[in-house]
Order: sequence, then C-alpha cells, then structure tokens
Amino acid sequence: MEVVRSHRKPAEADDVVPTLPLYLSAPALQVRLEDFELYAVDRLRVLKEISDGLSRGKKSDEMEKLVRELWKLHMSHPHASEVVNKDIISHFVLRLVYCRTEELRKWFLSMETSLFRYRFRSETHEAQRALMAEFHLPYKTVTSAEFENVKDKLSQVARSTGQSLSSGDGIFYKVPFEEVPELVAGRRVYIQKGQAYVAMNQVVSLVVTQFRFLLSKALVLTNRKWTTMIREQEKDRLTPLVESLSSSYLGPDYSQPREFTEISLKDIDQVAKSSFPLCMRHLFEKLREDHHLKHGGRMQLGLFLKGVGLKLDDALAFWKAEFSRKFGVERFDKEYAYSIRHNYGKEGKRTDYTPYSCQKIISSMPGVGDHHGCPYRHFSEEKLRAALGRMGVGSRALEDVMEKVRNKHYQLACTLTFEAVHGTSYDAGINHPNQYFSDSKKTLESRNNANTA
Ligand code: SF4
Repeated sequence: MEVVRSHRKPAEADDVVPTLPLYLSAPALQVRLEDFELYAVDRLRVLKEISDGLSRGKKSDEMEKLVRELWKLHMSHPHASEVVNKDIISHFVLRLVYCRTEELRKWFLSMETSLFRYRFRSETHEAQRALMAEFHLPYKTVTSAEFENVKDKLSQVARSTGQSLSSGDGIFYKVPFEEVPELVAGRRVYIQKGQAYVAMNQVVSLVVTQFRFLLSKALVLTNRKWTTMIREQEKDRLTPLVESLSSSYLGPDYSQPREFTEISLKDIDQVAKSSFPLCMRHLFEKLREDHHLKHGGRMQLGLFLKGVGLKLDDALAFWKAEFSRKFGVERFDKEYAYSIRHNYGKEGKRTDYTPYSCQKIISSMPGVGDHHGCPYRHFSEEKLRAALGRMGVGSRALEDVMEKVRNKHYQLACTLTFEAVHGTSYDAGINHPNQYFSDSKKTLESRNNANTA
C-alpha cells in the first residue's frame, strides 16, 4: 500500500474486491495521506463502539444490529466504488497502529475479530460460502444423497436445540469433531465417524477462528516490519500519525465551555464535589491540601478547568491563591503564571490547548508524587474504594465499578460511578472528563428545574 501526498487517483475496476474482505494481503492501492488518517479514524470509531457494546454485555443479535448500524454510519463513502477500498485501507492502517505493543495487538485482534464475526453473520449464505472458499477451509460439503441419509438425525439435533431444519440449512459441512468443541459440548451437532455435521448457520465459528489465527500472525509480522524498517523510514510522515492514532480521542475537543458550563471561583469547591469526575476531583483536593501540583497535574486540571469555563483571570487567581501559600506570590508570578497563560493560548506559540480526553489520561504514566492520571487505572484497589465511598457510591454499585476496573474497562467504571452518583442511567459512556462535567451539570440542573416546577 503506497501513501501519496495529494491528487486523487480515480478508483479503477481492478482495485475493487468483494465485500467483507479477508485482508490476506495489503492492496496495491495509492492512498492520499488525508484518507490514510480519515479512514483509520472512521474504522476506529466502529471498533471502539464494538468494544463498548461487548463490555456492556450486549447479546449476539444486538451486536449484529449494532455493527450493521455502525458500519453504515462510519464506513460508507460518497463514491460506491471507494467503499471496499476504505474498508481495506482502514484495516491495514490500523494494523500498523495496533501492531506496536502486546496490549494494542490484543485489543485490535479482539475487536477486528468481533467485527468480522458480525459482518459475516449478516452476509447471505452464498456470500458466506464464497468466503469459506476464499479461506480454503478444507471441509467438504455434505452431498444431497448423504444429506437424505442423515436428514432425520439432523432434524433431531435441530429440534433438541429448539430449531427446525429450514431450507437455508440445506448445506452442511463435515468437520472433524475436535475442531468444533463448543458445538460438540453444547450437543448442537450430529456426529458420525468422527465428523461433525456443521450447518451453514453454525460455520461462523470455523471462519472466525481462521480469521483470528491469520490476523494474529499478521500482526506479529507487521510489528517486525514496523520496528526494523517502517518506523525509521517514515519518521517524518507516517510515524507521528501512526503513533498518535492509537490514543486518539474521537469526540468533541471541549476546548470551549459547553451549555450549562461556566464556573466562577466562588462556587468552584461546591461544583468540584458535585460534578467533577474522580480524576479531577482528586487533583482539586490535592491542590487544596498541598497548595501545589506537579506539571502533569497542573496540565490535566488546568486544561479541564479552562474547558469547563473558568476564565483566564479567574484561573490565575485560583492557582495563585494556592501556590502562593507554599511558594509566595513572587515565585508564583515568576515561575507558574506563564504556563497558565500558555494553556489559554496567551503565550508561546499561542496555541489554544484542548483539555485531555480519558484515553490520554488513562495512558499517562504518573510517577512518584504525581497526582494526575485516571484513578480507575492508577489507584490501588483500597485507595479507589475509599475515594468512591467519599463520592457517595453505595456498596452494590461499588462492586460493579470494581469489576469493570478489574477487567480494565476504566471508562465504563467511570460511567457506572456517574450513574451511581447521579441516580440515573447514562448510556453515552464517559469518554472525556469535560463530558462528565457538562452532563453532570445538565442532569443536576434539570432535576432542580423539575423540583421547583
Ligand atoms: Fe477521568 Fe476519564 Fe478516568 Fe473518568 S475515566 S476518572 S473522566 S480519566
């Protein structure tokens, strides 16, 4: 796959491959640098929502529907001929992005396999058969004569699982029974002479296993190429892009205060208690306690406060009031005021810095004496339990939160905390501390309005 800077090459008929590709080799396509990133981000949106759906315990049928909707929403293209290209290009770009560490590979492998599974299930039987053939799976179909011989047995098995032998199930594959242990264990297949008769609607597990196996191998190889060659060769062009994509945040940037947000110094303590997510609440309390935060903490909290509507003058007054208690006014003015003005784009390159997303915070590495980071990831269990207790999370909800933490679903743990603290369900899921804040304010505001009506 060659990446080019600009001018679009019209899609040619030869470039088009069948729907639901197997991604067996990188395509010979030219890709514009802009598309390289845009396509990858769109696919990432799909994978991230699949990850959320799975960890929220959605059932197979719900997942299939979700994947269909996500695919339509994010992976369509104004030019029909580009749809398949977008699919393939985005997959290969994300391979590069997610091949780089064991943890990234694991996540990508699992999400791509789920995506493949549900897309495969949505295909027609003809398309499924074509895909099986492309994989060169060594299984023979049951001939009509054989089928007639075992039809009664197959019907019995189908009935015992609450199904009937419909015309769509007319095609069966003979598979060594040890290759379909879950079907055998669930008594969902008929076995004769060591061969399991796997119905068309059951082949998904065979195909998915093969897909997963090949992708897993490919990711290891891609990683090797990345570290020995691509990273260095592309250090000025693709490497920065690839390295930022795995932690890219895909929602609004919250650089401007949203509706209901805007805080003033006089109510900041009360608002911190009622509407700050745990990461910011912790930093805020530490600042009040120690009158100091190290650089990582100042950035994380400072940009969050900017995003929730604390004006520059108020921000300067706020930090000054704390820091000067420890270091004196003069040292604050000399050493710290600059970086606060800098965050607001008033110094240096005058960049208007955006508040950090959950992903960025979760992937940070706080050192000794640092208080930034995400408490769900960086606190010990004991410390987290105590902090959640102080937020008013009851014991049952607390166990649910801890379970998410144990499974490394930190944002879902934060979402459950939001639900417990606000006594409301919250389907959107937390992706950004400023989102937590603005939705908390919105919830509390509408509750107040309802009480006074
Ligand atoms: Fe903060 Fe996000 Fe972690 Fe919640 S999940 S504590 S908002 S970083």
